[in-house]
Amino acid sequence: MLFDVHTHTTSSHDGKSTPFEMCEAAIEKGIKVLAFTEHWDAFETYISGMLDDDGRCVAFRENELHDSFFEAKERYGDRLTLLYGIEFGEPSLKPTEAKELVARQKFDMIMGSVHVLDGDMDIIPYAASGASAEEIMDKYLDREIAMAKMCIADSLSHLDYPLRYVKVAPGEKLSLLPYRERVRELLRITAQNGMALEINGAGLVKATKCVGPEKWVIEDYLSFGGQYITFGSDAHLAQDLLRGYNESMALAREAGVKYAVYFKERRPHPFRID
Ligand SMILES: [Zn+2]
Ligand SMILES: [Zn+2]
Repeated sequence: MLFDVHTHTTSSHDGKSTPFEMCEAAIEKGIKVLAFTEHWDAFETYISGMLDDDGRCVAFRENELHDSFFEAKERYGDRLTLLYGIEFGEPSLKPTEAKELVARQKFDMIMGSVHVLDGDMDIIPYAASGASAEEIMDKYLDREIAMAKMCIADSLSHLDYPLRYVKVAPGEKLSLLPYRERVRELLRITAQNGMALEINGAGLVKATKCVGPEKWVIEDYLSFGGQYITFGSDAHLAQDLLRGYNESMALAREAGVKYAVYFKERRPHPFRID
């Protein structure tokens, strides 16, 4: 069953396709389950919202998000399972706000991410400013672990996200292996809290040039009792739906994953992929 449960529409500041365009493309590609997981990032100094490409805060448009999703569901809901989602960034910075949003909006599924480090600086400019990979990973994993402990997300998204942007010596492999001890701590909490682990297809077009996270990360997640993976193209454009799908499924099977999952009204709907 084709599914894609990490995507963005124009309800996210960086989404390029409307909800209708995403649904049309999904139906054309044969997708049966599609989730819109729009951005909501918490900040230290700004109100919660999203950072645009210039590092400026864009307010979170809660009503627009709600209305555009339900309009799409009304129009396309008989042809695909459309899920109401959100991608939380750094929710541990504003836990009360995040929980209140969840209580108000009754999302189907919640992705947990970290995009921004201290000083409300996105990882992309942070890496560009010359910070070492170690420094970035250290701060990143602090926030990832704090988020996993909150138990607020259904799936841990793009765990290898900083690898897309950190600077490494020429020829050096982009890998989470140097950080294995803390990654394992994160995976243990993720698995114990019943969260799924996402395989994200966007790495294919980033510096890592492959879907991620690496196979050993998925194996370690399973070893801690984790059961489910989610797949997300992280499409911000309709044509990118299912980006990296085949590679992600192959990676999951190779790592020994038996079930993928999507969440509806926050309840897991697992299905076999082996
Ligand atoms: Zn993200
Ligand atoms: Zn995303």
